[in-house]
Amino acid sequence: MNLSKFRSAIEKNDSQTDLICPSCHRLPLGTGGTLPHFDMQLQDQQHPASLDGAFEKQYLCKTCHTVWLKRIDKWGIDNGFRLKP
Ligand SMILES: [Zn+2]
Repeated sequence: MNLSKFRSAIEKNDSQTDLICPSCHRLPLGTGGTLPHFDMQLQDQQHPASLDGAFEKQYLCKTCHTVWLKRIDKWGIDNGFRLKP
């Protein structure tokens, strides 16, 4: 699925949030080294999600209330953002 199809699927199906805001819209998915945008707030740093030591940080966008997860893999490499399922 390409990115624009993915985004429109989110916008159509996600009933718990408003439309994704422009700042979130510009956030690249799954791109290492991406910084949270100015209106994203770190909410939680999750404990290792897997035994190999990978973990995720959870961010909330204060504009559109989208929840983002940033995954750090077992080597400490930032795997970029994804939407919380
Ligand atoms: Zn947003």
